[in-house]
Amino acid sequence: MNHLRRKPKNLVVNKRIIYKCELENCLTCGESLYLCRHYSWSKTVQQLDQVIHVASQPKECQNPKCCDFGKRYVSAVAQTIALPSSTYGLDV
Ligand SMILES: [Zn+2]
Repeated sequence: MNHLRRKPKNLVVNKRIIYKCELENCLTCGESLYLCRHYSWSKTVQQLDQVIHVASQPKECQNPKCCDFGKRYVSAVAQTIALPSSTYGLDV
């Protein structure tokens, strides 16, 4: 009965992309933003022609006097790759 078994989803990642926050400076205080050492999210995205692994690396304001101190800025471009809850690219 082997032929009735469904084949496992076999996704081969074609490339990995890490998007960093596009902003250089805090929008509130203007100080330089620091790149965080972790990713805010990462996932595998199926597009029409390829499978990619996308990660988003945020930056944060480290000026203690800023009211946005510790606020994380994420890459706007990364959000356009796939919807937050979806693993399919927007072109699918
Ligand atoms: Zn700031």
